[in-house]
Amino acid sequence: MERGPGLANQRAVRRHNLGVVLRHVSEHGPRSRATIALETGLNKTTVSSLVTELIGLDLLVERGLEQRGTVGRPGQVVELSGSGVVALGLEINVDYLAVRALDLTGAERHRSLDVRDNRRVQVRTVLDRLGALATTALEEIQIEGLRPVGATVALPGLVDAAGGALLVAPNLGWNEVAVVEELLARIPSPPNPAFPLAADNEANLAALAELWEGTARGLSDVLYLSGEIGVGAGIIVGGELFRGSQGFGGEFGHMTVDPSGPPCACGSRGCLETLAGLEPLLEAAGLDPASAATTTGSGEPVSELAGRARMGDQQALDALRDAGRWLGIGIASAANLLNFQAVVLGGFFAQLATWLAAPIAHELERHVLASEWGVPRLLPSTLGPEAAVRGAAAQSLRRVLTDPASAEAA
Ligand SMILES: [Zn+2]
Repeated sequence: MERGPGLANQRAVRRHNLGVVLRHVSEHGPRSRATIALETGLNKTTVSSLVTELIGLDLLVERGLEQRGTVGRPGQVVELSGSGVVALGLEINVDYLAVRALDLTGAERHRSLDVRDNRRVQVRTVLDRLGALATTALEEIQIEGLRPVGATVALPGLVDAAGGALLVAPNLGWNEVAVVEELLARIPSPPNPAFPLAADNEANLAALAELWEGTARGLSDVLYLSGEIGVGAGIIVGGELFRGSQGFGGEFGHMTVDPSGPPCACGSRGCLETLAGLEPLLEAAGLDPASAATTTGSGEPVSELAGRARMGDQQALDALRDAGRWLGIGIASAANLLNFQAVVLGGFFAQLATWLAAPIAHELERHVLASEWGVPRLLPSTLGPEAAVRGAAAQSLRRVLTDPASAEAA
């Protein structure tokens, strides 16, 4: 009677320890089996056998001898393998579709981009296009001999992550779209019958990317702001993504900052994004707000705005100061509530940080109660428009880091 559960337990412990070793190498870099044993507290023989299994799964590879200052035999260093598994990041945004494939080392193995205004296209046409991009990506990956372990799709709105559905995206004009189910139906030959495809909010995924590999690396309490056509946020508390009870947290752009302000696409008034979103900002600066949806991640009109500000164009400078002021008011309220270490300015906010930083800082000094003891640092995103789609792929790779044995079936 004891044997069954005992063996099952041993297998569960081994499966868990595979994850401990793989995450250790992922977080701390290449090292020898002896160093891994020393640092994780697992015994040397166990680590050797776990590493052998991880090499067999193509998740780790050997890479020469360890350079050590200490006496003793240098050990073979193992590092993450770039030739085993990959995950796809997919993104549907207002003005583009994007696909990236990342291997376990974070290297990009495929990229595609389709720039167009998705507001003027039927939902199923957008899904057809993304399905075709994902199919091509999967075919290319498999020709290279890599194993796709899953995909995550980043969406600009409220997402039911458990059900894989987009509930509402005011800026796209989408309501209740079963994105995961629809996309699976459009990938004609998924790499395996249970190909895990997940959906999440784009700002959440961008926040995770900045935490794992971007400007927020090493921090634990961070507000990530995504500046696209809409304004969203990803909230990191204690090193983890904070979603709220239903998963709808982080709708920073729909914080009411002026109750009698302009109407918002969401049906409310005076939402932050009606005052500091890209379209009102371009309009205030004297640029065509419709141009916001004509280029990837809104790059061109934002460069035009930055160019005017650099030349000292007063209308552009005034518009940026006002947008920065509204952003600062919103960030200060969030900082009073959650006491962040830093605010990451993502999307177009990063490109315009030169002009937005001062008015934001001014409002933080004015409105953050604890400002005497320091206000959150402002950090321009280092991943830029790549953040959400890289975070989406990384989220799927995380599952392998948590449970390496899951990569066996892939
Ligand atoms: Zn709103």
